[in-house]
Amino acid sequence: MARFIPLSIPNFEGNEKKYVEDALAQGWVSTGGAYITQLEKQLAGYLHVPKAAACQSGTAGLHLSLIECGVTPGDLVIVPALTFIAAVNPVRYQFAEPVFMDCDDSLCIDPEKLRRFCENECEQKQGELIHKASGRPVKAIIVVHVFGNLADMEQIMEIAAKFHLKVIEDATEALGSRYTEGPYAGKFAGTIGDFGAYSFNGNKIITTGGGGAVTAREEETVAHMQYLSTQAKDDPLFYIHDEVGYNYRMTNLQAALGAAQLEELDTFIARKHSNYELYQKLFADFPAGKLLGFRQGTWSNQWFYSLELKMDRLTCTLKELIASIQNDGVQTRAVWGLIHEQRPYRQYVAYEIERAPYYSACILNIPCSTQLTKEDISYAAKIIKGCIISRMM
Ligand SMILES: *Cc1c(COP(=O)(O)O)cnc(C)c1O
Repeated sequence: MARFIPLSIPNFEGNEKKYVEDALAQGWVSTGGAYITQLEKQLAGYLHVPKAAACQSGTAGLHLSLIECGVTPGDLVIVPALTFIAAVNPVRYQFAEPVFMDCDDSLCIDPEKLRRFCENECEQKQGELIHKASGRPVKAIIVVHVFGNLADMEQIMEIAAKFHLKVIEDATEALGSRYTEGPYAGKFAGTIGDFGAYSFNGNKIITTGGGGAVTAREEETVAHMQYLSTQAKDDPLFYIHDEVGYNYRMTNLQAALGAAQLEELDTFIARKHSNYELYQKLFADFPAGKLLGFRQGTWSNQWFYSLELKMDRLTCTLKELIASIQNDGVQTRAVWGLIHEQRPYRQYVAYEIERAPYYSACILNIPCSTQLTKEDISYAAKIIKGCIISRMM
């Protein structure tokens, strides 16, 4: 069979089978069971936070965060234009409206534009930030640490404090990324803002099949999110419910997988780093593009690698290029279609979106699974370079 290198596949070389079989043997497969609390403790310990709540998905964690922020119908929430749509959809679950913000060269939200939007397009009234054109309050900002690269949290937190915005970190792609310098040195992605959401979907750095987690500044807030995630059950015997709840709690089977995966997180990150270094060597002096780096003063999980292509030097579209690379046995992909251009989101405010369309049109994500060998990486780079060079002017 011809060789095939996938983009990103899960890695189960630890205790996954053992823990999942144990959960099965115990009969605890659903939203109760010891692995759920074990995973929550393990994760909180890893992140140096008092408490974390395990959920059904990263999307559920983001939704719970918006609820805790008090985001209600008609409110505005600032979100990136360049991201996976799951970062934005929960805003609409609350019948709030997104305001789309551009990225900078880190692919994360541009803090300069964020500041300008708050200063020029909004005004402060009785401790609230009001968007002048619509008269609606801006309640929160969702910051995505794109591909594991930390956003500029120093500036973002300062702006958020000045304009009374809650900060929800979408750390779904950035589990394990942290600052090593500056005021947030030692702080992990998802533990700097008011809320942090993580995802354990199949392609993320660790997986529970599907699943996620959420943390918050206050331990009681996390406890309340756990309560909401289990149908807001106040009395388990007599089924008394004081609030509208959700079925957002992780299952014990997922958590068993997660507990094993979390044990391997540091190994996975080390491999992401060595694979990235090798790609960097292989793409040094490549005439048609370069690998994007990760923010200075941080230690990224380096979840995904991005090749910034010089599209004006190519004779084909990105779509054609991806198809030809795939045809040669290597899977790559483009970043996301911009969210403010998607059908459900075209009617909302998009503020000075200029960099996002550029990156959306020229980034190629290349294979990054943790089980790739040096030989696999060299092979993938050779195929990718060959395909690109044969399509250069
Ligand atoms: C994966 C992802 C999510 C959603 O996580 P799920 O666990 O799939 O719900 C949200 N935002 C971003 C940026 C993601 O990459």
